[in-house]
Amino acid sequence: MTVSRRNFLRGAAAGCTAATAAVVAPAPAEARGNKELPPEAVGLLFDATMCVGCKACVVACKEANGLPIQVPMERAYEDPSQALSPTSFNIIKMYKEGEAKTKDVEQDGFSFIKRSCMHCVDPGCVSACPVQAMTKDAKTGVVSYNADACIGCRYCVMACPFGIPKFDYDKAVPEIHKCQLCNHLWKEGRFSACADVCPTGATIFGPVPKLLAEAKRRQAMTPGEVAKFPRRSTETGDQTKEKPAAKYVDHIYGEKEGGGTQMLMLSGVPFDKLGLPKLPERSYASMSETVQHTLYDGLVAPAVVLGGLLAATYRSSRKKGGSEEDSHE
Ligand code: SF4
Ligand code: SF4
Ligand code: SF4
Repeated sequence: MTVSRRNFLRGAAAGCTAATAAVVAPAPAEARGNKELPPEAVGLLFDATMCVGCKACVVACKEANGLPIQVPMERAYEDPSQALSPTSFNIIKMYKEGEAKTKDVEQDGFSFIKRSCMHCVDPGCVSACPVQAMTKDAKTGVVSYNADACIGCRYCVMACPFGIPKFDYDKAVPEIHKCQLCNHLWKEGRFSACADVCPTGATIFGPVPKLLAEAKRRQAMTPGEVAKFPRRSTETGDQTKEKPAAKYVDHIYGEKEGGGTQMLMLSGVPFDKLGLPKLPERSYASMSETVQHTLYDGLVAPAVVLGGLLAATYRSSRKKGGSEEDSHE
């Protein structure tokens, strides 16, 4: 749900009154813990040991989201998108060490790693956004962006520990861009294009508890043990051919990092070597909201009023005519 300018300012005024009362009689601030996984949370499992670096998922992501491919279509798999950007929501990066001879080995080895939005359980981007332009779906947990509500402050960019949201610095009316788990495809009975297209089962889509169970199953297997693995989605019944289980590091990335994420990862190479940050189990959002409420109880209202005024000014500059504010009600 977005907030109209009128309602925003109305809310800001109400907040001002409440916070003024708080200054007169401050209430004790309470620390909040991490948020819980939503009841129908969906996400992705990426298994680096199954990834062959074909980048079919990179191309499929662009097609599914109407993003330009920077080389002719017949050479699309050579698209050199090596960094997330406003036109690249999903990239496959390569780790190489020494002679880079053996796959999924840290020394003298190599590995691939997928980078896209982690759909955090308690997202910093959502917590930092002053106007609810970045929201987390209460049922599925997908973190989405609403350009109409955005005031261009880029707090979400600064608050994301994974460096995911990208801002159109070169556009007259800039927006934020990132993966939204292809939730626009769901009404067609489709799901994340990156998982749908992955030929090896390295990326699969599904309910987070099932993805976590599958990740734990793989980690419990003896390396070399032959088995089939889900492909595309835990819900479609697709499976790979029988193949040997890999040797993993003893870590499911995303199970606990930063309060947990709805994208989980397995790898044979330690995750910090693959460029993923080491994060505490407590979410940054819970820490910052606790500090904010503890130290700045009395300053909330001025901040909200300022945010409201910025929103009003920014939206006026975007508006080509008519009453845009009421269209969000
Ligand atoms: S499509 Fe699958 S195997 Fe190919 S690069 Fe993407 S994740 Fe790796
Ligand atoms: S990875 Fe970053 S952009 Fe994605 S939900 Fe988490 S904080 Fe938000
Ligand atoms: S879920 Fe969709 S938008 Fe997100 S990385 Fe995969 S293909 Fe791209």
